[in-house]
Amino acid sequence: MAASADDKALVVFSGGQDSATCLAWALSLHAHVETIGFDYGQRHAVELACRAEVLSRFRALRPDWDQKLGPDALLTLDVFQQLGETALTHDVEIITTASGLPSTFVPGRNLIFLTLAAAQACRRGLRRIVTGVCETDFSGYPDCRDDTVKALQVAVNLGMESRLVMETPLMWLTKAQTWSLASELGGEALVALILEHTHTCYQGQRGERHAWGYGCGACPACELRAAGWAQYREKKASGGQRV
Ligand code: ZN
Repeated sequence: MAASADDKALVVFSGGQDSATCLAWALSLHAHVETIGFDYGQRHAVELACRAEVLSRFRALRPDWDQKLGPDALLTLDVFQQLGETALTHDVEIITTASGLPSTFVPGRNLIFLTLAAAQACRRGLRRIVTGVCETDFSGYPDCRDDTVKALQVAVNLGMESRLVMETPLMWLTKAQTWSLASELGGEALVALILEHTHTCYQGQRGERHAWGYGCGACPACELRAAGWAQYREKKASGGQRV
């Protein structure tokens, strides 16, 4: 039986740990899952290169996931580079700026990603949009907040005469709990896949393999990932399944 739009999802998939976990979550829950990503002039194309690799490994890991996975879309957005310098799109230092936000913050980025995802979901007949934004361990990005996503859901549904649902499975999880979720969804094989093939580092480094995956080990994204992995392993070793 063909899946209804209500059981079809679009995952905002960057190739990082969080969106890969969201992809597994969506595949476990929904009948049909498509993916969307954005090439917005990131300083490093590493994360984008990881997308295709992670997607093909998801297909190989589980035949049921392979069947559920639909097409992937990659949209090109060079507007952020035109808007000005941030540490994610230009070679500038990662610091906390005078506004209190990190220099990796690209104003409006998630708002635009989710709005474009909503447009794609409408076009493709997918009711659910899954995004890995998180308020718990977030890097101070105001557009990752629960209230921001809820407000945007209302705005796009009004503006597109739709009834889309924005799902945020990681919103209240720590990075360690995100690893636990991956383990629950796909066991150690999925944890190993995410560890080895997803990318998080702001510096785009994949030279050195740490216990927690690849990265420079010093940028805020690597620090979060390393701390989350250490906490997850510690709890697991002490017998606690849930972190
Ligand atoms: Zn790094």
